[in-house]
Amino acid sequence: MDVYIQKCQNCGSRNLRNILSRESAQHVYVQCRDCEHFVARYVVASGGYFHEGRDYESFLRTVTLDSGFTSGRDLKAVFDEVAESSRKGFGKALQAANDKYGDELP
Ligand SMILES: [Zn+2]
Repeated sequence: MDVYIQKCQNCGSRNLRNILSRESAQHVYVQCRDCEHFVARYVVASGGYFHEGRDYESFLRTVTLDSGFTSGRDLKAVFDEVAESSRKGFGKALQAANDKYGDELP
């Protein structure tokens, strides 16, 4: 796994703000809190957003609002899968970051 801790390409700060936006697709705009520059934009895949600590009802609202989601599968099962894979992925990414940066984790 290759990991990278994002930083502002303008000033080098890691003090970043995620702005979640729902239009035709869900976007995450990243802004530097220090110099206010635009850093990056992510497009969230259909059904791909997971927010730890939020319940199934919250997930369902997100998925229902997501026009690209067409699967007929049981949404609760999808939620459980997304929750599990998100937590596992976070754990792996954090481990990889610790392996890469050690005590210097930014
Ligand atoms: Zn900056």
